[in-house]
Amino acid sequence: MTVSYDTLLARITDPDGRAIPDPATGEVVGRVRFRPVADLDAAIARARAAQPAWAARGDEERVDLLLRAADAVEAATEPLAELLSREQGKPLNGPNARFEVGACVSWLRATAATPLPGETVVDDETAHAELRYRPLGVVGAIGPWNWPMMITIWQIAPALRMGNTAVVKPSEYTPLSVLALIEVLNHVLPQDILHAVAGAGELGARLAAHPGIDKLMFTGSTRTGQAVIRSSADTVKRLTLELGGNDAGIVLPDVDPKAIAHDLFWGAFINTGQTCAAMKRLYVHDDVYDDVCTALVQVASAMPMGRGLHEANVLGPLQNRQQFDIVARLVEAARAAGATVLTGGDPDRDAPGNFYPLTLVADVDNDNPLVTEEQFGPALPIIRYHEVEQAIAMANALDVGLGASVWSEDKAAARAVAERLEAGTVWINSHGGVHPMIPFGGVKKSGYGLEFGVEGLKSVAAPQVING
Ligand code: NAD
Repeated sequence: MTVSYDTLLARITDPDGRAIPDPATGEVVGRVRFRPVADLDAAIARARAAQPAWAARGDEERVDLLLRAADAVEAATEPLAELLSREQGKPLNGPNARFEVGACVSWLRATAATPLPGETVVDDETAHAELRYRPLGVVGAIGPWNWPMMITIWQIAPALRMGNTAVVKPSEYTPLSVLALIEVLNHVLPQDILHAVAGAGELGARLAAHPGIDKLMFTGSTRTGQAVIRSSADTVKRLTLELGGNDAGIVLPDVDPKAIAHDLFWGAFINTGQTCAAMKRLYVHDDVYDDVCTALVQVASAMPMGRGLHEANVLGPLQNRQQFDIVARLVEAARAAGATVLTGGDPDRDAPGNFYPLTLVADVDNDNPLVTEEQFGPALPIIRYHEVEQAIAMANALDVGLGASVWSEDKAAARAVAERLEAGTVWINSHGGVHPMIPFGGVKKSGYGLEFGVEGLKSVAAPQVING
């Protein structure tokens, strides 16, 4: 579908709705009406009514429709990326808005290309048993504001492929991006299999508690994830919880600091640090500590930050003022404790927008709040260590475990460290990259359940054994 930015925005905006501000300028991007619970209930009822016919279409037809949906999103890349950039703040270029829309297309295509056939689990003289996967019914999806389009696709594409229908509750900070994406998808998909209902936390709580939702895909903070577990308890609905993280990176002494600085930088600062599996604390061996710090400052100094719509920028504002305040508070806590701010740390509070400068903080203690709390912004604490055992212990000390990384020229040495880290994914010589065929999910208070690939399809299906 070829559609202009103005046409797309006009289809989703409501003149009487709530103003959604551009985090770079404060200008109104569009207006969204936050819907009452009755509208959510109605959407769930329609999704339930549509589900049997969607399942009955069969896998081949659903694959075809997902591929057509991918083509429709691809054709709408520019208006979608512009809206995402205006509403979320992320630049069009770099690993940002166009990249995010591109990831939606890739994940739709990869989900369409991944079958989940049944299997014979025992076939001998004692038994014959087959394990097959049926649709669950209606899948609910609640998302955050950092990668609003991509995370929505991660939640709904496998659900639809498996014959479920879906109801999405976008973040109250970025509803336009998700409504626009779903508008484009629904141009291709049959009526009522995919709904989006805008609203705040109360609507999310209702979705989690709703008896008409069979499975909830939740991506957001650990605190809200805990509320979702409680709200969903009475219905015993299945949950996938992709929650907060505080990923550690460990740099071993054998690295070439200049050679890894660029990848270290993007591992921490992708989406201006507002990424669940971004590196949020960096442990560097004493032998290379100063050189890693110098190389990182050099890379950071060359990265343009500014309004997302300006093609040269690769870093943008924080999406909302609350997040800005969290980052500012944590950097101040480090400074007050005697840490060295190598670069950044002094935002211009009178300037328009939620811009917080790229900030690197050295000589910081491992128990400083900038290290122990999830900053979710462009500020990276760099902690010195002497023994690798000490780095592993510090990395594992927190109660979250989404991702982690180990950096070394010796792959075997890196792997030996990786195997001891308490995280759902450990990258070697990179951080945070995701792939539609590689399972992704956290441990500890970063949540449970896996997304992507075959494991992702299993998570939105009801396993059934036929025994006999
Ligand atoms: P959040 O928890 O504040 O909000 C997430 C969503 O939950 C929003 O749509 C919100 O409206 C909804 N919500 C609020 N209260 C609710 C309730 N009581 N019941 C149900 N839903 C409710 O998170 P956020 O600030 O939007 O996102 C940032 C957080 O998300 C960070 O902690 C980040 O690490 C995490 N995150 C995790 C992943 C992952 O894959 N693990 C990915 C992206 C973001």
